[in-house]
Amino acid sequence: MRTETVPLSGPSPGTTRTLTRHHWGKDGARPKVYLQGGLHADEMPGPLALYHLMHLLDAAEAEGRLTGHVVVVPVANPIGLSEWLLHKPVGRRDLEGAQNFNRGYPDLAGLAGDALTGQLGPEPDENATIIRAAFAKALSEAKVETEVDELRLRLMEGSHDADIVLDLHCDHRSVMHFYASTSRPEITDLLGRCTGSALVLIEDVSGGNAFDEAHTAPWRDLRARFGDTVPLPCFSTTLEYRGQGDVSDAVAASDASGLMAFLGGVGALTGGPPPEHGPAEEMPLGGAVEFMAPIGGIVSWVTRPGDRVSEGQVLGHVTDAAARRRVEILAPTTGLLFRQELWTTCLRGQGLCHVAGQEIRRQGDLLSN
Ligand SMILES: [Zn+2]
Repeated sequence: MRTETVPLSGPSPGTTRTLTRHHWGKDGARPKVYLQGGLHADEMPGPLALYHLMHLLDAAEAEGRLTGHVVVVPVANPIGLSEWLLHKPVGRRDLEGAQNFNRGYPDLAGLAGDALTGQLGPEPDENATIIRAAFAKALSEAKVETEVDELRLRLMEGSHDADIVLDLHCDHRSVMHFYASTSRPEITDLLGRCTGSALVLIEDVSGGNAFDEAHTAPWRDLRARFGDTVPLPCFSTTLEYRGQGDVSDAVAASDASGLMAFLGGVGALTGGPPPEHGPAEEMPLGGAVEFMAPIGGIVSWVTRPGDRVSEGQVLGHVTDAAARRRVEILAPTTGLLFRQELWTTCLRGQGLCHVAGQEIRRQGDLLSN
């Protein structure tokens, strides 16, 4: 194991931060698997699972079972982690410019594409090496304006050449689920069976260039530009480790064991545990529909995440106690109620929950912000 401490320059005199990456296995070994947690710095199930995972990786390495290169960034967002406002953690957006920490990552195909013209040959494996080097060069030359830009670049410097990228998040109140593209269905299936996810939301282009998409989209875009000798080597996903309150050592240790099963399944180590779960149910991301609050008030539920629901079914209520008025929260589609908002109060027009169905109901930018 080796630990790398990456400085972030700090936005004001006298202020600096650091990003910490831990490595197991040899640099250059394949597959390279990159895991990070806490990019949204108010989402702590992932960092705690990675804390437990790192002990398991220490033991595996001591036993000589590391065959790939595993990188863990357990605290991916030291900026967000320090940002509290009015006695509450903020975490999702930076306080200076209100940018979502998981949007706006560099477009590597756009930055490196021109430099690759005439550089690629007939061998996909050799092309992967050439492309990764071009990505590294583009990141080293990218312009940094804000502290958040710098964080994005430093994160991608550790992850851009990975074969597999797992970005561990969580939702408000939710079942275990994750997002994936269609490009590597066998890895999607394995990840579902290792993590016990109830649901995987499938989409090739979700919009916003989130961290996961910033690792898959460049390869897809370069294939469209240069043809099939550009391989599709990176599997990248956002995992939602249930809800913000689902933070416990017992659950995190179990999740770490699931990640060891996955690392074994993709060949990063030997002797990992077998997958313990069935496959995740696949739904299109465009079929995940949100219910918006028709009035502001008190939010109460008669259902919970994980319930199967039919379109129009009553899921809960919004109550304006002052006006002695109550409005039903109705299922916007038929499928799996997989997430609800954390708060017990809402403003009119706010999203309250999502139901994932098989029928496509949405287009365009598909992620909530
Ligand atoms: Zn998140």
